[in-house]
Amino acid sequence: MSIRLLKDIDSLQRWRAEGRGAQIVLVPTMGALHEGHCELIRMAREHGDRVLVSIFVNPLQFNVATDLENYPRRLDGDLKAAARAGADAVFAPTVESLYPPGDESRVNVGPLADPLCGQNRPGHFEGVCTIVVKLFMLSGCAAAVFGEKDFQQLAIVRRVVEDLHLPLEIIAHPTVRDPDGLAMSSRNLRLSEEARKEALSIPRALRAAEAAWDEGERQRQRLEAIFRERLSSALNLDYGELRLPSSLARSGEVLTGDQLFAVAAEIDGVRLIDNLLLRDPSSRR
Ligand code: AMP
Repeated sequence: MSIRLLKDIDSLQRWRAEGRGAQIVLVPTMGALHEGHCELIRMAREHGDRVLVSIFVNPLQFNVATDLENYPRRLDGDLKAAARAGADAVFAPTVESLYPPGDESRVNVGPLADPLCGQNRPGHFEGVCTIVVKLFMLSGCAAAVFGEKDFQQLAIVRRVVEDLHLPLEIIAHPTVRDPDGLAMSSRNLRLSEEARKEALSIPRALRAAEAAWDEGERQRQRLEAIFRERLSSALNLDYGELRLPSSLARSGEVLTGDQLFAVAAEIDGVRLIDNLLLRDPSSRR
């Protein structure tokens, strides 16, 4: 299994030229690849001729310096994982090449970026959108795969692609979980054994809310209370609330139609996010 490592924009352009119009599917990541990323890469394989994985820890989307410094980086292992999952090339540029001196244009997002992760992470989604638009343009990809674990990010990227008339398709992959239910994340590497146990209360609390939903509970406050009761007090909850999946607006008191239960919590300085889509059987055909 051979995989090409493209360390700068020139190498990426040469790799594109070699492809002579073959359709590229991009999987943008920040590296420290886990099985979740690998699933995205496998899905990408099914949607085009050549799979390109980008690995770039984007400083623009971090608003806490220590989070950026502590973000796991391990390119050698990533290359092997990407190759095994079926990627053709990895684009791992330097910060200076994507943000050269004088770079100042930013992609601003609308109201979708305001709630949830936008609240306590000012500028985060502007950073995300700026880097993904650069990556879309540089790679010339026909499609890009994103995970539903970052539900708000996925919704925002879809919005940007539509609003800016970018000629590519956005493909969503469901959240990939460890067997015990914890959503896979590169940040999980930084969890102590003890913290990981506490973090497991996130998927459990989401499942408890889902079980109540399945039994017909439609009071927003009741479902959010069920979630909070199950969540370990060792976690600092940023948000754990019901939102409308299309607009991310706050759900009403009495819930109608599909709902998104979105969560962000921190433990030991590690920020974890997760979500569950609660489907309303009466809104299905
Ligand atoms: P990251 O490297 O964390 O920025 O993630 C890169 C891409 O992988 C994003 O589209 C994420 O939504 C996706 N991703 C990360 N973890 C998971 C997961 N557990 N399940 C599905 N997609 C994921």
